[in-house]
Amino acid sequence: PENCKKIIELKNVDKSFGGVHAINNLSFSIYEGEILGLIGPNGCGKSTSVNLMTGVYIHDKGEILYYNADGSSVTLKEQSVPNRAKLGMGRTFQTPKPFSDLTVFENIYTIAMLYNRTLKEAYKAAEEILKFVQLDDIAEQKCTKLPIEKRKWLDMARALAIRPRILMLDECLAGLTPSEMETSLDMVRKINKQGITVLFIEHVMSAVTKLCNRVVVMEEGHFMTEGDPLEVMKKPEVIRAYLGE
Ligand code: ADP
Ligand code: MG
Repeated sequence: PENCKKIIELKNVDKSFGGVHAINNLSFSIYEGEILGLIGPNGCGKSTSVNLMTGVYIHDKGEILYYNADGSSVTLKEQSVPNRAKLGMGRTFQTPKPFSDLTVFENIYTIAMLYNRTLKEAYKAAEEILKFVQLDDIAEQKCTKLPIEKRKWLDMARALAIRPRILMLDECLAGLTPSEMETSLDMVRKINKQGITVLFIEHVMSAVTKLCNRVVVMEEGHFMTEGDPLEVMKKPEVIRAYLGE
């Protein structure tokens, strides 16, 4: 990845919640066009990293940089959550929370309206995304009682509606059946083929090895190692970290 362009770079990032040192001197980069796996035992700081990149939390120390398509960089600490989304940072949540009073279509359209130039474009984008995530048959359904897989796909749709350059997927397979997982993996591959960079946080290792070009492994809030998924998974320190769970 050294010859590739960076899209996000974390440099010596620290974050504490009271006495919990959740992120400890964390550094790694995400490169344009890749599907980067971010793995590590429960509680090692994967979701917190996404929350720091997307502005849900603000880091205490260090720097997070976002690189625009033209190569210019933005220091993210100064940017609000909506600003970061406008820059092209989309994300899904470990526990999706759609607007429950709205229908599936309205959920996507409402977000698309904020991130497209015209209402007409937003409507067209929402229709395309709805079809892409295979929720067109329940477009008019309210989001109060959607089954888990549909909530996961709607969450992906909402993230796509901001027109992301990078999409961060936080355990998008959790709770899905094997065949639903395959559907999700297929969506992620297609999203990446459209040129969208993907950060893929996942516990299902077979999915990580199938999908990712590269993985970064975290342990106790810091960077442990990185590399080819299959090679990394053979490393004794990685096996040890997972066995210790
Ligand atoms: P992962 O996603 O890798 O399982 P998290 O990023 O969710 O891990 O959590 C990392 C650590 O930070 C854990 O010890 C967790 O309890 C703690 N943590 C995360 N968010 C908060 C918060 N809002 N308040 C307090 N502690 C938090
Ligand atoms: Mg998590």
